Amino acid sequence: MIKRYKTRQIFIGNVAIGGNAPISVQSMTYSKTADIEATLKQIKRLHFAGCDIVRVAVPEYEDAYALEEITKRSSLPVVADIHFNYRFALIAAKWVDAIRINPGNIGDKNRVKEVVKACQDRKIPIRIGVNSGSLEEQFENRYGQSAKGMVESALYNIKYLEDLGFTDFKVSLKASDVARTVEAYRTLRPLTECPFHLGVTEAGTLFHSTIKSSIALGTLLLEGIGDTIRISITGELEKEIEVARAILKDSGMVKEGLNIISCPTCGRIEANLVKAVAEVEERLRHIKTPLNISVMGCAVNALGEAKSADVAIAYGKESGLIIKKGKIIAKLDEKDLVDRFVKEVELAAREEENV
Ligand code: SF4
Repeated sequence: MIKRYKTRQIFIGNVAIGGNAPISVQSMTYSKTADIEATLKQIKRLHFAGCDIVRVAVPEYEDAYALEEITKRSSLPVVADIHFNYRFALIAAKWVDAIRINPGNIGDKNRVKEVVKACQDRKIPIRIGVNSGSLEEQFENRYGQSAKGMVESALYNIKYLEDLGFTDFKVSLKASDVARTVEAYRTLRPLTECPFHLGVTEAGTLFHSTIKSSIALGTLLLEGIGDTIRISITGELEKEIEVARAILKDSGMVKEGLNIISCPTCGRIEANLVKAVAEVEERLRHIKTPLNISVMGCAVNALGEAKSADVAIAYGKESGLIIKKGKIIAKLDEKDLVDRFVKEVELAAREEENV
């Protein structure tokens, strides 16, 4: 059982972050935020994919003003991502559910004070978003773009807000590689009670980001660090959510969906297992009930795996067995196995839901 760090709880819209709240999944739209219809379309896609919170970029006044309409019609809580211009934050704060800024980048303390006041008035939180590529000059000059530099920047910004009497914030410490990301979060964790937003920034394509994010976030989550996550992928929105949900599931943070056990195949195989597993995965994507299912190429390990699986297939020569909770329930021709297996898994999910 993983013991999570006890952090202060904040809320982004109706989504709790920190405390004992489930770890939430975030993503970001890539449309011009001022294009309201395109942005809402992307938010809807993210919602359907299983996203909990959406962030939108606010680089111009027109983006800030578009948030009035977007937040009215969005089905997800919306975070405004502000880099330098505090005026955009003041406008966005009228409508959004949270603001992402780096107080150090906003400059003059009075400007930060105004943003904090706007957030206090609407009771919305701030994310201090430290990024190794955009550290404040004083930290970059002293520490380079190191984990130490990121932690010092975060501590500086945390103090900045706390000195203003504001504690409704979370922190992210993103680098584009695994080692610095993990080191930064680990170092900062014992030094503050605020919740952490985990992510590896600019992590690359689906393949590379999945690997980097799985190592970094998997490591941190297994150490009990992390309250909300975002997977950054150069690719489609849905993939970010799919990878995020898989990381949460496979690190044991949530119990949802199928755990598919399948063998790598070897010279003993007598069936087209690669095709069968791909079909099973695709056809059972809608199942959210936590179930273990196994699809194995021959009897060597299949019967052992089937004992702990809710539903299993053990392929043989041109035929195979369907096994449910360790009991053989059918022997079928190879061509009929996947259809029956899919039906049995759907049935097992319904049975589990009704327990
Ligand atoms: Fe090979 Fe059978 Fe093991 Fe699959 S289950 S890897 S086919 S021995």
